[in-house]
Amino acid sequence: MKSLKELYRIGPGPSSSHTLGPQRAAKLFQDAFPQAQRYEVELFGSLALTGKGHMSDRIIEKTFAPIPCQIHFKIGEELKHPNTMILYAYDGADTELGQWTVYSVGGGAIVIEGQESDEGREIYPHHSMMEISAYCKQENISLWEYVDRFENVNEYLNEILLQMCSTVDNGLNTKGILPGKLKLERIARKLLDKANVCEHPAEKEKLLLSAYAYSASEENAAGGITVTAPTLGSSGVLPALIYYYYYDRKLQREELIKGLKIAGLVGNLIKQNATISGAQGGCQAEIGAACAMGAAMVAYLRGLNQHQIEYAAEMGIEHHLGLTCDPVGGYVMIPCIERNAVAALRAMDAAILAEFISKVKQNRVSFDMIVNTMNYTGKKLPMELRETSLGGLATVVPLESC
Ligand code: SF4
Repeated sequence: MKSLKELYRIGPGPSSSHTLGPQRAAKLFQDAFPQAQRYEVELFGSLALTGKGHMSDRIIEKTFAPIPCQIHFKIGEELKHPNTMILYAYDGADTELGQWTVYSVGGGAIVIEGQESDEGREIYPHHSMMEISAYCKQENISLWEYVDRFENVNEYLNEILLQMCSTVDNGLNTKGILPGKLKLERIARKLLDKANVCEHPAEKEKLLLSAYAYSASEENAAGGITVTAPTLGSSGVLPALIYYYYYDRKLQREELIKGLKIAGLVGNLIKQNATISGAQGGCQAEIGAACAMGAAMVAYLRGLNQHQIEYAAEMGIEHHLGLTCDPVGGYVMIPCIERNAVAALRAMDAAILAEFISKVKQNRVSFDMIVNTMNYTGKKLPMELRETSLGGLATVVPLESC
């Protein structure tokens, strides 16, 4: 597995595979052909079908600016990967200088055809939770200590934590309508106001978590700066939990960073052994993965043992199996924003359930089993329900009703 730095990335919303990935591809392409006088980019598959709503064209044009770039949405032409883009560079005489075929594979990661991965070397020698658990047991170390054995990410994760908190803060302090045709109102601040006057402790906790998840997700939908956790579409879950434990439960930053390490391991295993791309595996791959990461982190923060942490993470995915990706109008808003809030609450519940259920019964489904099942299920989902906005919710909610 690669570094956690390749999983947690800071970048502009609203979609890691549709904004962050194309942004990286455009930057690298520009560096390779700096003499170009103009560029052209063709978007295929999910990038063509939801690229407008996900702002792919805007981020590509902005990255190449001031050099002009023409974008072509090639709807109906399927290539080898559901998120394919072809970039062309031309000189002043309109002679082609070069072209790249690039796949945006989820979480901002890209694969350039014919080139080595730019994601750096393999850092972790183990490939499954079973292998990691066996190693930790043999060495008598915890999951966060396992991360420390192979890389020093304390400073990096501190930056990630601060960015998560500042994204939530920005969202809570911004009112108005989100960009795009849906004309959706930001409601994070209203949820926080409700939480602040709520006198029922359990409801207050749910309202606070929801307000923070809405806040980060609304920022993401508006193209604000957020953290892939593991993707931008699902970037409200972990920040909501971090913000809640930091400001409301007053946990130390060091503890939260340990929690981010464990969540990162969970996300990395899903990324390596299945997918974190909605275009490949549906929303179970994004929100299911984020919920699993959050559940593992909360389980750690509640003082649960390694077996219980794995159980919480497993539950986070198991109960999102089959979840479709069908964003209305191609915007990362409906169902995405609310879904982040629901997943943050589910992450909390999964950790609590793992703690108590594990005391009375053995879990028959391992984390590795559920990751493989999620991968299998994603492949069985029809293309209409994998970030194309051609089916499901995307076709039943009329744009003008929002
Ligand atoms: S439905 Fe899920 S996977 Fe699809 S864009 Fe929204 S958050 Fe991402």
